[in-house]
Amino acid sequence: MDLKHNSSVKLNDGNLMPVLGFGTFAPDEIPKSKANEATKIAIDVGFRHIDAAYLYQNEEEVGQALRDKMADGTVKREDLFYTTKIWATFLRPELVRQCLERSLKKLGLDYVDLCIIHVPIAMKPGEELLPKDAKGEIILDIVDIRDTWEVECHPYLNQSKLLEFCKSRDIVLVAYSALGSSRDPTWVSSDSPYLLEEPILKTIAKNHNRTPGQVALRYQLQRGVVVLAKSFNEKRIKENFKVFDFELTAEDMKVIDGLNRNYRYDSMPFAVDHPYYPFLEEY
Ligand code: NAP
Repeated sequence: MDLKHNSSVKLNDGNLMPVLGFGTFAPDEIPKSKANEATKIAIDVGFRHIDAAYLYQNEEEVGQALRDKMADGTVKREDLFYTTKIWATFLRPELVRQCLERSLKKLGLDYVDLCIIHVPIAMKPGEELLPKDAKGEIILDIVDIRDTWEVECHPYLNQSKLLEFCKSRDIVLVAYSALGSSRDPTWVSSDSPYLLEEPILKTIAKNHNRTPGQVALRYQLQRGVVVLAKSFNEKRIKENFKVFDFELTAEDMKVIDGLNRNYRYDSMPFAVDHPYYPFLEEY
């Protein structure tokens, strides 16, 4: 398998998305300035795909980091792939643009590379989100989501059926909480299992002289999933980028596949009574 630090997947609109992305969500108690520091470190380390959202309330800090790294010559805008997300309260044709424009203003950028719907459950199937005369590459029609689906995905919820479906439709699957999530008590139950303490991941990591986190990320890359890794810690940011110089065996992949237990860290408890609550579906 030929995965390199600068490997990308081609989206079906022709744009390239780097296969490893840097996650920027942090629980409320983490100072927003940490997002700025961590994003700069991530870019220095080599991350070129940055995953963010209006909801995370840190796009000023993340945007400043991008602009600083462009200003000091580390990257050009076109080297970066920036994703933002439209939050649920903006899912009306007249509000979508407003949310995106707010993000752009906070970021200090004039475009984002991808803009996805954060929680599409607020929409009816088939509902159009852009005004009829809107132009651009924003993917906002739930029936015709052509490029990427970003979903929780890790060895305890490996989404193998959804992945197969996405591959058959030329949709790129992007994995979040690939390291077992931030365990934010707002969303995640305190008795949830610690993915990175999983004995099988630890054994495989030891065999490759790696960490369980690196194995969890590499697992996704080798199955054709674009994977996000959030860390605001310099050592772990560096560690998470070092996943291009080892390879899991077919047996390792099979064993990790066997860890699946359809366990979801974030089951969106706030939406469980919503008529379009998605997590009761088979996918
Ligand atoms: P994650 O990437 O699964 O894990 C992050 C947690 O693991 C953090 O607490 C981090 O703490 C720790 N960590 C990171 N690297 C580690 C390593 N090598 N060894 C041990 N621990 C490590 O977290 P996530 O935030 O749930 O998901 C990643 C990104 O996906 C988010 O930041 C966000 O951009 C995106 N996301 C999207 C959605 C959506 O609805 N579309 C939902 C959730 C997340 P430290 O910071 O202390 O290292």
